[in-house]
Amino acid sequence: MKNRKLLMIPGPIEFTPEVLRAMGMATTSHVAPNFIEVFGQALERLRQVFLCPSGQPFVIAGSGTLAMDTAAANLIEPGDKALVVNTGYFSDRFAAILERYGATVTQVRAPAIGDAPALEEVEAALKGDGYKLMTVTHVDTSTAVGADVKGLAALGREYGALVVVDGVCAVAGEEMRQEEWGIDLALTASQKAIGVPPGLALVVAGPRALDAFHNRQIPVGSYCSDWTKWLPIMEGYESRQPRYFGTPAVNLIWALNVSLGQILDEGMDARFARHRRLSEAFKAAITALGMKQVPVAPDKTATTLTASYYPDGVDRTVLGYIKEAGVILAGGLHPDIKTRYFRIGHMGAVSPSDILATVGAIEQGLAQVGYEFEAGAGLAAAQAVLRP
Ligand SMILES: *Cc1c(COP(=O)(O)O)cnc(C)c1O
Repeated sequence: MKNRKLLMIPGPIEFTPEVLRAMGMATTSHVAPNFIEVFGQALERLRQVFLCPSGQPFVIAGSGTLAMDTAAANLIEPGDKALVVNTGYFSDRFAAILERYGATVTQVRAPAIGDAPALEEVEAALKGDGYKLMTVTHVDTSTAVGADVKGLAALGREYGALVVVDGVCAVAGEEMRQEEWGIDLALTASQKAIGVPPGLALVVAGPRALDAFHNRQIPVGSYCSDWTKWLPIMEGYESRQPRYFGTPAVNLIWALNVSLGQILDEGMDARFARHRRLSEAFKAAITALGMKQVPVAPDKTATTLTASYYPDGVDRTVLGYIKEAGVILAGGLHPDIKTRYFRIGHMGAVSPSDILATVGAIEQGLAQVGYEFEAGAGLAAAQAVLRP
């Protein structure tokens, strides 16, 4: 019997066997001809996955927070004004990073946890002041709120702000069309919907973001995040002429290229549609089991994860029973409601059978803590969506 548990958290996620095999290969030199080809191809593929043909990809060893740091370090100069569209924990983090590089930050906050600021409110803020940059968290992993990135990016463009999207829990799962939607910089980390073990910060900067970087008056305040160092490296590998700044994460980049190939084989539109369908099935199950989600309305909800309040009389001990039933889920993250809800990631290589296994394990866990519900109701609701 297989006794490995299913990891259904909002990153790290379950990785494909092909990706994991690439991680286990003998490590080559970072200037070996076959690695140069792999790195160059991964950069080309990133443009396709971000749907940004005119973008400049950056692949740097680090986590998603480093990708956020890189965006702020290269685009912000002390005294610049930045607007943060705040939907939760990771929006707070972006505000803190921007401030660290000297930005004056204004935040438009959601009216309640699980909600997102209205477009009109963001527009009113943009009208009021000359912002150099605005940030949007595509999917706030603390609340499962999905922002209207398309609408917000159009507003940012209209008022002349660079549009920066934290897509760490979104890129390659949630629909995002960087170039078409006018997003100047989008970023993610390897361990979420991109489907590679933790360790890579991924950024695609569009032409306006690169112009803002080239027009800086003051040097970038971080040695390790400075595009002055990284741009020649990325351009070098893409033209198959390696250059050195810091040793690239060879096996992770190998695995990234495998995963990006699998993503593009599926096709971006098919991938977005699969995430929508699996999310709908899972959320139908949660509702059928009598649980309420953190996002206040279905149109505010991400497709890469679900955040659900525990039912009355149930607390996080249920997560232990769900784990015993074979599925690992995540607890709460947003400090105000941390003990009252849990989170389920369903992104990347996730399949209908993963959804059913997870719903089944949740039903077992709920039964063990004495919660009363109609056995099988969650599974039936998910099946009703998944049935061809
Ligand atoms: C996970 C996450 C981050 C942070 O990424 P790390 O890899 O943990 O540094 C940032 N933003 C969002 C939206 C995330 O989901």
